[in-house]
Amino acid sequence: MSATGPTSSPADSPAEGVHLGLDIGGTKVLGVAVGPAGEVLADVRLASEPGPERVVAVAAEAVRALADALGTPLDTLAGIGVGVPGVVDARRGVLTHAVNLGVDGEGLALADRLRERTGLPVAVENDVNAAAVGAARVLGLDGTDLAYLSIGTGLAAGLVLGGRLHRGTRGGAGEIGHLPVDPLGPVCPCGQRGCLEALVSGSAIARAWPVEPEALAPGEGPSHALFRAAAAGDEKAGQVRDRVADHLAAAVQLLVLTVDVDVVVLGGGVAEVGERLRLAVASALSRRARASAFLASLDLPARVTTVPQGRPVAAVGAALLAPGREAR
Ligand SMILES: [Zn+2]
Repeated sequence: MSATGPTSSPADSPAEGVHLGLDIGGTKVLGVAVGPAGEVLADVRLASEPGPERVVAVAAEAVRALADALGTPLDTLAGIGVGVPGVVDARRGVLTHAVNLGVDGEGLALADRLRERTGLPVAVENDVNAAAVGAARVLGLDGTDLAYLSIGTGLAAGLVLGGRLHRGTRGGAGEIGHLPVDPLGPVCPCGQRGCLEALVSGSAIARAWPVEPEALAPGEGPSHALFRAAAAGDEKAGQVRDRVADHLAAAVQLLVLTVDVDVVVLGGGVAEVGERLRLAVASALSRRARASAFLASLDLPARVTTVPQGRPVAAVGAALLAPGREAR
């Protein structure tokens, strides 16, 4: 796409108001270019590499690839938002700690470093927070109070309240994975016992339902195998699935009771299971509601949804959180 012809001017260049969003994960970097109305104009996918230097280099490479895909020089773009899996100081654009990216100790001044490499203003955000903002846009729920429950390696939620990302005073809003719910549960890497995340997350499901990698189709995880086996009538799988669904129902209940979000979006790797997961969580919420008129009045099963398959919500949200963008 390029603007040519006698009427073209910098003011109506195709890159006017275009922000880039990067979702930097432990294995891949997804990048999108997002237009003024939130539409995805281009996307790229690169393999990620660990260590602060390589994180910056691959991010810069993704930015250049997006500019190439748009057919526009870098300096016509409006800015960059980056979502990263770790502890982020969003105000300073610093990634403090990210085990999966090999960043710890002194942290990484990712916003400054990427601005030096690209000449563009950069914002850095926790990837679950970015995904919450992106999910609101992708699902057409702008203006709806929403929680995005990421069920991946860990368990955490991002909150969009009153049209804005709610980070909390110290950036800890939505970190419900480390709420201890079972005094006899396994010890969590955070040091507590029986955290929600230690009971229900991609890692917890992999422990509860171990699968040989060759039994999985490309892109599938143990949760796919678990829900498939349960749907096929495997009794043990059904029990594990129902336990997973009940822990997720507790997480949904926790989010709604705390901030009364209208919608809870299930996201992250486990949510790629899709409709089977949503139905299992909705059933678990219905079971809970049968015992409580109070819970029944909250209509929780109807408030749970999933991200449409394959939509890069974290990258889209990162672009919407770029400097100068409205979601910031
Ligand atoms: Zn914990």
